[in-house]
Amino acid sequence: MVKINENFKDLKENYLFSTVAKKVSEFQEKNPNKKVIKLGIGDVTRPIPNSCIKAMKRALDEMSNSKTFRGYGPEQGYEFLRKAIVDNEYKNLGIDIDEIFISDGAKCDCGNIVDLFDKDNKIAITDPVYPVYLDTNVMAGRAGEYINNKYSKVIYIPLTEENNFIPDMSKEIPDIIYLCFPNNPTGTVLTKEQLKLWVDYAKENNSIIMFDAAYCEFITQKDIPKSIYEIEGAKEVAIEFKSYSKTAGFTGIRCAYTVVPKTLFAWDKNKEKIQLNKLWNRRQCTKFNGVSYITQRGAEAIYTKEGKNEIKENINYYMNNARIILKGLKEKNIVAYGGINSPYVWLKTPNNISSWDFFDKLLLEANVVGTPGEGFGPSGEGYFRLTAFGSKENTIEAMDRIKSMKI
Ligand SMILES: *Cc1c(COP(=O)(O)O)cnc(C)c1O
Repeated sequence: MVKINENFKDLKENYLFSTVAKKVSEFQEKNPNKKVIKLGIGDVTRPIPNSCIKAMKRALDEMSNSKTFRGYGPEQGYEFLRKAIVDNEYKNLGIDIDEIFISDGAKCDCGNIVDLFDKDNKIAITDPVYPVYLDTNVMAGRAGEYINNKYSKVIYIPLTEENNFIPDMSKEIPDIIYLCFPNNPTGTVLTKEQLKLWVDYAKENNSIIMFDAAYCEFITQKDIPKSIYEIEGAKEVAIEFKSYSKTAGFTGIRCAYTVVPKTLFAWDKNKEKIQLNKLWNRRQCTKFNGVSYITQRGAEAIYTKEGKNEIKENINYYMNNARIILKGLKEKNIVAYGGINSPYVWLKTPNNISSWDFFDKLLLEANVVGTPGEGFGPSGEGYFRLTAFGSKENTIEAMDRIKSMKI
């Protein structure tokens, strides 16, 4: 008889986006003439930059000729892209080409990385959180029992108004710490100094930081690190995940990368230090066969002069939406965070109503859809996420409607 991986039964069903979709479709059925504006999505809407499209077309043509055809590529990614990443993203940060691993998504990498670690590692996540970090550890049997909205073996680090969305070090020492900054869903960031405290903490305690920098290109303020390796000592304690999904509209094309420095070690049961770069390389070579050549040429084009300009333009477009949202909320005296270095605005629900009640009110009265904070974790209760990924016209209209609501 086949036995399942029992850990899957410990997964809590995440009803967030399905409940949102259900409520929206019910509303639309009852109100077919109302135009609903969706500011809940975490997907981009602007098309792929022209420089990427041109590069991908060229790569496709190469595939049609036996002289230039390419089959399996290197599991770690083509050198042309890894070199472009080192030269552009990690200039003067001392990251080598063989510390970069190209993949088909930061989501998969964040999930797959848990393969390298023993079941008995203690993990810490911020709360609210991008659900992938938690659920992949549940599947690996590392989370314990689900009691009162929390897993018993997981350390939850609240990100709330009270701590200014700056995670406090927990007294209980985690082995693996997930940090995502600029943060999804709160849209808030850490300064270099604040991140340095975490790097030092990890170093002191022989912990590892999983740093998700998927939104680094949205940073507008100085002194906010775009990579954890801008922090001294991070190469001994951190793995970094970056993605072209939000930067270049690659959510459907699929390309990302993970940095595993060769100076990063963990211990085996004999207390021997093992290089994680070697383990990840082995894992990828065994379970992954690389990202398509066409896709990698598309990603490479992001680093051309034309590509950089196009990306900047797209990001500016979204960040202008974020400004429109922030301004509208301020006029309505709704307290909001984020939106300055990220495409997410995290608002405090007015009059302390629950995040789902605010969802219903917004849908009913303004016909605007957002995401209830509670869906991202217990500390998200009382907050609500709006995203800047819509069109400018819709964003303006949504904010006009919110402004005319009775709150
Ligand atoms: C969107 C997003 C990613 C990117 O995932 P891909 O698989 O590369 O599309 C990673 N982390 C967070 C927090 C995200 O919101």
